[in-house]
Amino acid sequence: MVPLIEITGISKVYPMGSTEVTALDGVSLAVEQGEFIAFMGASGSGKSTLLGILGMLDRPTEGKYRFMGDDVTGITDDDLSIVRNRVAGFVFQQFHLLPKMSALENAELPLIYAGKRDMRHRAEATLDDVGLGRRMHHYPNEMSGGEQQRVAISRAMVNDPMIILADEPTGNLDSKSEEEIMRILERLSREGKTILMVTHEEDLARRADRIVRMRDGKIISDTGRKKGGRKPEGGQFRSGGISELSASYIDRAEILDYVKQAFRTIVSHKMRSFLSILGILIGVAAVISMMAIGEGAKEAISQKLSSLGSNAIMVIPGAVRQHGVTYQTGSAARFTFQDAEAIERLKEVRRISSSVMGRAQLVYMNRNWNTMLQGTSVDYQYIKAAVPVAGRFFDDKDVKARRKVAVVGMTVVRELFKNENPVGKTVKINKQNFSVIGVLPSKGASFMRDQDDLVIVPVTTAMYRLLGKDYVDLFDVEIRSVTQIPSAIEDIKILLNKRHAISASDQDAFQIRDMSEIRDTLMSTTSTISLLLGIVASISLFVGGIGIMNIMLVSVRERIKEIGLRKAIGAKRRDILIQFLIEAVLMSLMGGVTGIMVGSAVSYSLAAVTSWSVRISMPSILISTLFSSLVGLFFGLWPAIQASRFDPIVALRYE
Ligand code: ADP
Ligand code: MG
Repeated sequence: MVPLIEITGISKVYPMGSTEVTALDGVSLAVEQGEFIAFMGASGSGKSTLLGILGMLDRPTEGKYRFMGDDVTGITDDDLSIVRNRVAGFVFQQFHLLPKMSALENAELPLIYAGKRDMRHRAEATLDDVGLGRRMHHYPNEMSGGEQQRVAISRAMVNDPMIILADEPTGNLDSKSEEEIMRILERLSREGKTILMVTHEEDLARRADRIVRMRDGKIISDTGRKKGGRKPEGGQFRSGGISELSASYIDRAEILDYVKQAFRTIVSHKMRSFLSILGILIGVAAVISMMAIGEGAKEAISQKLSSLGSNAIMVIPGAVRQHGVTYQTGSAARFTFQDAEAIERLKEVRRISSSVMGRAQLVYMNRNWNTMLQGTSVDYQYIKAAVPVAGRFFDDKDVKARRKVAVVGMTVVRELFKNENPVGKTVKINKQNFSVIGVLPSKGASFMRDQDDLVIVPVTTAMYRLLGKDYVDLFDVEIRSVTQIPSAIEDIKILLNKRHAISASDQDAFQIRDMSEIRDTLMSTTSTISLLLGIVASISLFVGGIGIMNIMLVSVRERIKEIGLRKAIGAKRRDILIQFLIEAVLMSLMGGVTGIMVGSAVSYSLAAVTSWSVRISMPSILISTLFSSLVGLFFGLWPAIQASRFDPIVALRYE
């Protein structure tokens, strides 16, 4: 008959610096199903090493291992994990319970790796069996040593294994608890489990069926062996079933478990977790507020430009040397009303307004206000979307007669008239009485300038009565359609060159700007700013990722024993890898989400104290979330791979 386990010529050699330690030296042993074997011997004689090999937790340096007749010596680590999970249950001297999990959660751990998470009731039943039915929601630190070891036995039993391997299970217990544990093991033996127990105590060993004594890595005696034990029943493990078992998968319940555990780990190290997500938090907050401001600015610019009319162009004297900075030069043209009339006769032109610019001191009652003064033609209101919201604009008669009438912006209404209706009031502009006839529509702020802080008067009034100018500063021209803008610009150039005898090569005399150009300049400025801020944010995310990696490496170091235990009860490399990756991703996601909140708060506070418009867009939130998860995934990978590679037996012995 085939024994349950048969090992032949097993040796285990550990490298120790330049020399080697032989822990096992040519051990052969057959274990029948249902046997209760005690392993005895002096400390260092190789008992634990042998138990590890019998339980498929460790691999021999030399020799053969047969399980139910199958040679499993050469199978992969992950397959070994699977077999171990199905057939073996371990009980250790140090209990090895996971401290942040309740008794029940500890006991059901092997079910997770077996993909039988739905069999939680089995964990409850095994806890009940060892008399802990009422204490299953307690945590290990609330339990006595004996109780903790009983939880460990429940964990070993939960998957209904064929073999229980107990390495000095009562070594850390008082005599009363020792007795309880022995009774449980004896009961399990009676129920047909194969029990392999290491002990130092003769009287405990005598309670087993068979005693194997060891010295210096060799078996020196083997007494009480039953001849031809029970026939192996197979349990969950059938011969040849290894490849079938390895077709296991990770289910949602397992992922959820990891998320829950990761969350607990993060919460139990609050300060450390906070500091390690700080980089991500700052990076994401930066991304969010930058994008909010950038988007807001773009939106404001588009709105403003479309309210100005996209087929309006401006003719100004002098040249542009750098982005948006105009300077007058000696050769700058001086425009006249005759120029305006000539331009207006061009076929592409619908209307034109001549403007002059200056400053004005306004006085109303005892209040003073210094503001921008603009003299315009009647058509200005149509070209620049400035039709008054109250009262009226001036008309041709007002212009011709140089009447002292004024249309005021909202800021002037607020500051000078304290929000009274100014229409019909008389106001002093540079010491002359003007009557207010209308209020301009509000345009808000743009390019750091308040566009509502102005007063508009007829261009002739401005020139001859207020500013003492006999020429026009600029023309606002409305072209019939957007497509005609290029040819209109060309025609205006030719016309003005001729009228002012400017040579075509003189680029300094005047220039023509259309809105699309202004729009492009503004948009490209905001994109440049966005790009710069994006770089800052990426650096911050990168640094944040390194922070996460650092803390994950620490976390892996701290939890080597946990990793060893998880592997002992059947976790595969992939399970450990995923567990630590989830922790890293969760941590950086938390950083990301707090970053989104902080970024939004910053944006809205900025919007409240400045007059900037901000817009938090869905894409920016999605991108931030995605990026922070990616950072976690990327920087968590290395620590997680390290964790997944630990050898269970080495990890369990790690101090
Ligand atoms: P026992 O359980 O009987 O006390 P062990 O099986 O733990 O003995 O150890 C047997 C021998 O192997 C001891 O000399 C021990 O120091 C050595 N040993 C065990 N594990 C390792 C290891 N991971 N690296 C080096 N030496 C080891
Ligand atoms: Mg030992």
